[in-house]
Amino acid sequence: MALLVALMLLAFGAAPAFAGLGDRTLRKGKRGGDVTRLQRILTKLDRPTAADGAFGSGTERNVRAYERSRRWKVNGMVGCGQAHEMSRAARGLDPGEGPFRYADRTLRRGRSGDDVKGLQTVLTQLGFPTSKTGAFGSQTDSAVKRWEASVRWRANGVADCRQLHRMRRAGSANADVPAGARNGGHVFPIRGEHSYGGSGARFGAPRGGRSHRGQDVPAAAGTRLVAPWQGVISAKGYQASGAGHYIVLASDDGLDYVFMHLPSAAPVGQGDRVATGQTIGAVGCTGGCSGPHLHFEAWTAHWFDGGQAFDPLPLLKQWDESS
Ligand SMILES: [Zn+2]
Repeated sequence: MALLVALMLLAFGAAPAFAGLGDRTLRKGKRGGDVTRLQRILTKLDRPTAADGAFGSGTERNVRAYERSRRWKVNGMVGCGQAHEMSRAARGLDPGEGPFRYADRTLRRGRSGDDVKGLQTVLTQLGFPTSKTGAFGSQTDSAVKRWEASVRWRANGVADCRQLHRMRRAGSANADVPAGARNGGHVFPIRGEHSYGGSGARFGAPRGGRSHRGQDVPAAAGTRLVAPWQGVISAKGYQASGAGHYIVLASDDGLDYVFMHLPSAAPVGQGDRVATGQTIGAVGCTGGCSGPHLHFEAWTAHWFDGGQAFDPLPLLKQWDESS
């Protein structure tokens, strides 16, 4: 049963968990804790709204009324910047007036405040260690640009509302990553030439209505795959329409690593202990695949058992540089 559920999740994708107001655009039909938060803000802004977490007609009407009163575009939708401006108004703050909470304003070189300190914390969680000075100087600028480059965004060192939210979500998934996994000592899993593909290869790239849960790493068919860190093979299987031949490594570093599209059943079995660098398979193209590549996922413990997938590219690049 658990395996069936896991395979169904593989096929259809798990529902994203939205953590905070501003993480996504809210509009009629949306549900969640962020909607409840918006409804409480509307009530504080003298537009009493039931805090039921469901964005229905009443919520939409009140959003429109508030947009009209502020002379904003009246569309009944609340994006990142608007969510923060409404939250600030509910706190009695005028536009441009401090103090600023995380993502209340665009951050760039020269800014200072607690929101900058928040960004520096997030950068450190993302694997770009930055001193928590609260002043956005050259070190923060360089760390933001390196993060932007790592996700193939324009590296301009300017973090707007959406970028700050995206960084925080990625950083909080990484906060559970043991320092050992962030700081090297791991072996890059593909023992041969490889690339990182284009934007479609990235974690989060659209995949027919759901989102790509890993990083695709193109390499020649047959290139050896090894365990990046010691651990136990916790799953092994075959899925014709998706993963092809795949295995999951429950690594001793506390993370689960998933390897898909192997050419044939892996030479290791479920329950086997593997050493760091041990061969666990090869690059192939079984399942839903259009050219030989490793589809690689990294999860907090455990895969479809309480864990969450996060963008593995920063880890892969660190391992690639050091091994
Ligand atoms: Zn993939």
